[in-house]
Amino acid sequence: MLHCSMSYFCLAMLHLPNPSDARDWCNVQRQTGRSVGFVPTMGALHRGHESLVDRARIENDVCCASIFVNPLQFEDGQDFNAYPRDLNADLAVLEAHGCDMIFEGTLESFFPEVEDVRRIPMISAGPFGRGLEEVCRPGHLDGVRTIVDRLFRFVGPAKAYFGEKDFQQTLVVMDLAESLGYPDVIVCPTVREPSGLALSSRNALLSPDEKKEAERIFQSLAAAAKAWSSGIRHAHILREKMIEQFAGSRLIVEYAAVRNPSAWTADDPPGELSHAQALIAARLGRVRLIDNLQLH
Ligand code: AMP
Repeated sequence: MLHCSMSYFCLAMLHLPNPSDARDWCNVQRQTGRSVGFVPTMGALHRGHESLVDRARIENDVCCASIFVNPLQFEDGQDFNAYPRDLNADLAVLEAHGCDMIFEGTLESFFPEVEDVRRIPMISAGPFGRGLEEVCRPGHLDGVRTIVDRLFRFVGPAKAYFGEKDFQQTLVVMDLAESLGYPDVIVCPTVREPSGLALSSRNALLSPDEKKEAERIFQSLAAAAKAWSSGIRHAHILREKMIEQFAGSRLIVEYAAVRNPSAWTADDPPGELSHAQALIAARLGRVRLIDNLQLH
C-alpha cells in the first residue's frame, strides 16, 4: 500500500521505502495520463541535484526521485561506507522542490529474482564505458548501467534527468536509454560554486583547506578552454595545459583527458579535434573528485 508520513491522501511528498511500491505509483500515474519525470540520486543532495528536480518538475506532470547508494558501482567498500548520507535533510530538500514521490531500496528489493545479491548479473557499460572512469574504477560504469537499467524498469519514466558533471556516465545512460527505447535522457548543466568548483556530495568530506585546493580542478578545465579559444586543437597540448595547473598541488590526478565525445572509443585521437570535452579525475586524500567542461 502507498503511504506517506501524514495520511494516505495528503499532499506531502510520498516517501516509499520499496521500489515495487514506487512501480505501482508510477503505473497509476501513467494510467491516468501523467508523464513521470525521474531523478536518480545517491542522496546527500545539493544544488546540483535540486536543479535536476526543478527541471523534472517543469517538464513533466509528476516528478519522482530515488535515493540509493548503489553498492554495485563502488569497487571499494571503504569508499561505499564513507559516502555521505543524510536522509532527513534529503527528504526536506526534495519536498521543498516539489518532488511528488521519492523511493529508496536495497539490492534485494531491486533484484527480487536474484537469490544471492553477490551474484547479480552485471550489464556491461557498453562502448562509452571504455577508458577514463573504467580504467580508474574497473566495473564502476557496469554497476551504474546495471542499476539505472533496473531503475528505469521500475519507474518507466518519460524523461530522466542526469548531470553533465558525470559526463561519461551520461554517455553510458544515453546508450542504455537508446537500447531500451526510453526514456528521454535530459543532461543538465553542472552547478558550480562561484570559484568554479563543481558541487558534489563528496565535497562534504573536504576540509575548508582541501576545498580551496580542489578549485584547481576547475582551473585546469578553464586552462584547457582558454587554450582551445586561442586555437589549440591537439588533445595532448590541451592536456598539458590542464596538468600544468597541478604543479605543487596535493591533488593526485588520476586522468586528465580531452576527448571527442562522439568518437569515444578512440584513446587520445591523433590530429586535430573538432569537438572536445576536457575531463578530469583527481584525488585529495581519500576523496575522489571528477569534473569536465565542453571546449567546442
Ligand atoms: P549522485 O547522487 O552523485 O549519483 O548524482 C545524482 C545526479 O546528480 C547525477 O545525474 C549527477 O550527475 C547529478 N549531479 C551531481 N552533481 C551535480 C552538479 N554539480 N550539477 C548538476 N548535476 C549534478
